[in-house]
Amino acid sequence: MKEKDLLGRIGKLKTKSGTVETPLLFPVINPSIQPVTPSRLKEEFGFEAIITNAYILKKRYLNQPVNLGLHKFLGYDGTVMTDSGAYQILIYGGVEVDQAEIVSYQESIGSDIATILDIPTGWRVTRDQASLTVEETLRRARDFFKLKTREDILWVGPVQGGRHLDLVAKSASEMGQMQFQIHALGSPTEVMESYRFDVLVDMILTAKKNLPIERPLHLFGAGHPIMFSLAVALGCDLFDSAAYALYAREKRYMTENGTWGLSELDYFPCQCPKCSHSTPSEVLSKSAKEQEVFLAEHNLYACSGEIRRIKQAIRDGRLWEYVEAKTHAHPALLTAFRKLKEHSGFMETHNPTIKRRGLFFSGLEAFSRPEVTHYREKLSNRYVHPEGSRVLLLAPQTRTKPFHKAREFQKIQPALRRLDGNMVNKIHVCFYVAPFGVVPMELDEVYPLSQHETASPIEDATLGRVADEVASYISSSHYKSVVLVHDPLNWSDHVKRACKKSCLEKRVKFNYLVLRENSTKNILTRLEMILKKNLSE
Ligand SMILES: [Zn+2]
Repeated sequence: MKEKDLLGRIGKLKTKSGTVETPLLFPVINPSIQPVTPSRLKEEFGFEAIITNAYILKKRYLNQPVNLGLHKFLGYDGTVMTDSGAYQILIYGGVEVDQAEIVSYQESIGSDIATILDIPTGWRVTRDQASLTVEETLRRARDFFKLKTREDILWVGPVQGGRHLDLVAKSASEMGQMQFQIHALGSPTEVMESYRFDVLVDMILTAKKNLPIERPLHLFGAGHPIMFSLAVALGCDLFDSAAYALYAREKRYMTENGTWGLSELDYFPCQCPKCSHSTPSEVLSKSAKEQEVFLAEHNLYACSGEIRRIKQAIRDGRLWEYVEAKTHAHPALLTAFRKLKEHSGFMETHNPTIKRRGLFFSGLEAFSRPEVTHYREKLSNRYVHPEGSRVLLLAPQTRTKPFHKAREFQKIQPALRRLDGNMVNKIHVCFYVAPFGVVPMELDEVYPLSQHETASPIEDATLGRVADEVASYISSSHYKSVVLVHDPLNWSDHVKRACKKSCLEKRVKFNYLVLRENSTKNILTRLEMILKKNLSE
């Protein structure tokens, strides 16, 4: 693995036809109706891997792919993955081929990555039906190891269970104990078509939590670039897309922000080689076949461009910001993004603690961000304020960082300098900061406490959340008194009210003084007075 961000990662996958970089998208090839040939997919579009259906090959072309070898048959020298026909079972019900046949067929055509004959759960099924598909897929998975004869093929162990998360967990944990090189999450196509991305988040994370974390995870049928970044952030490494071709046939134009009908477009919002040299009306004047090819090619560019942007975001440590921006393209995606809150513990465990760049916070979603939950967890469970500190002096966050070196803080610092050393040691300076809550001064240079930017003015709901954090810090600590530097301009009354309430409950003395422009002298004198008084009591 080369780079990580959230559960997303840039990695290398070694196959017998070459090493490919993940996250990786496999365009789906249907040899009988293929708008863009496999060789062009590699040479012109840069797709290092493709996927095709072993069941369809066997049914339509019989021994031809066996005799020629899969790569020669397709005219493609990159990595070729084969699916077993499970999707056809889901759509048409029943496939006249058994697992032994389809395993041996994939071995004899020389797939680089191959799939056992699993049973997709589907979307609208009862728990009992779903359970049957899980059990049967597991039975076949165990059986498979007696059937396979080649060691140079990477085999996929699919996870089933649909939206029944306990079944997904069981399926993943038992599948994960078997020696598959890759896992796949089955049948999310219907989940995506009904825009239940929130269910998808639960499905993916349940699978991830129960599978060996290092093994690549393929998300079957997740072919729209609008959700690639979310899926990558959740730990999906591989995708396949039949959508680029299916959408093209229906005259639909994909972008990473949504889908348009070709006839709805007055301008192409894309700079790919196709769109740069054409306009929607020019394309519409062409034959149906030409329109389809144009759209398939554009759709492929849209998919590969999005994968590249996601990889760069992982490199930059900006995947969260990237996903956050993307999920604002559709309310269903934003709903899914907000679901991450429920999984913040798991996300936090696997998210790198230090990143190349600072964090950007734009709103309430920041409270679910792994770096923020990680900090809050550390502060409440492992942090003890310096021994002997009796007075908590709370100052507002400053515009520049670290806070204790900022100009705004320098305005109140002289009051501390005027006290004698003995007294100063009894004062613990902390900052109240969105979205972290309380930041002790001695920690304010630790990543990411000084390496973040927050949009201002800070919205009301965020102020309220930070105030709650401050209150809970006070109630779990052991100060004798609390002095708040109150900043009504930026913080309204939230923190003041929360401090007051918390101090009252804890029977701790509470004072505040108001921070105003151009009144440095007054505030210093008052602060000095309050501190001296509190320390002498
Ligand atoms: Zn384009």
